[in-house]
Amino acid sequence: MKTFDHSGKVIAVTGGSRGIGEAIVRRLCAEGASVFATFNSAPERAEKIASEIREAGGTVTYLQVNVSDEESVKGFIEAVVTQGGRIDALVNNAGITKDGLIMRMSGKDWQDVVDTNLTGVFYACKAAARPMMQQRTGRIVNIGSIVGLQGNAGQVNYSSAKAGLIGLTRSLARELASRNVFVNCVAPGFVETDMTEKLTEEQKASFFSNIPMKRAAGPDEIASVVSFFIAPESSYITGQVLNVDGGLAM
Ligand code: NAP
Repeated sequence: MKTFDHSGKVIAVTGGSRGIGEAIVRRLCAEGASVFATFNSAPERAEKIASEIREAGGTVTYLQVNVSDEESVKGFIEAVVTQGGRIDALVNNAGITKDGLIMRMSGKDWQDVVDTNLTGVFYACKAAARPMMQQRTGRIVNIGSIVGLQGNAGQVNYSSAKAGLIGLTRSLARELASRNVFVNCVAPGFVETDMTEKLTEEQKASFFSNIPMKRAAGPDEIASVVSFFIAPESSYITGQVLNVDGGLAM
């Protein structure tokens, strides 16, 4: 499904080997971009996606990156700029959950989730900001979550990281707007991916009962909004959080 035209753009996407990130990579490639995507633990999956995209005429390169390691993230952005010649957009999508009620949550489970979902985004934005400022153009799209707005029992680590991401998005949007670099956040509700596969049928049913649309999103329903934030059609939007949640948070 082609919505926007990203022909000639060089776009970096973290966590492109599964779920929402995979849908973002597939969509942006179909819309003409040259995409540099990351995997962390699933090289065979990334290779399979890459060969399908190439067979369909798209351009994609997968690199192994751990977003919670600053050197790894810096190396990824440098590789994008060196191999792609520029970096038009960065999509910070990689994320993990380690759920548990606070009494049972270890310090490690807190730290791992904050390191991956928030600090990793800081590393990537820091590395991409300089080339984007020099180019005088760029787009950054952060994948948040509605739990960053509403909170969620059993997710103090994840919801804190996603809430922090909103502050990061708004502060960076203010820092970079004068250089024509725009920063926005897409906040999904419930999306059918490996991340939500872990939930019990009972937990899913309770989620759906609160969603006005009474269903989960497909990953491409998030990817299409990401594509909009990279397109010229969103040229007067920065520092925003757009909920893509079937009406859950309003
Ligand atoms: P997913 O299916 O579990 O995929 C997670 C992706 O992140 C994978 O590509 C994984 O790579 C990558 N990743 C994990 N840890 C990493 C690390 N340390 N360094 C680099 N990459 C890492 O998750 P998803 O559901 O698509 O979620 C994608 C984003 O949407 C996340 O930020 C998540 O918080 C957000 N979100 C999801 C939902 C939902 O309902 N699913 C709702 C709201 C927000 P490997 O597979 O190679 O390890």
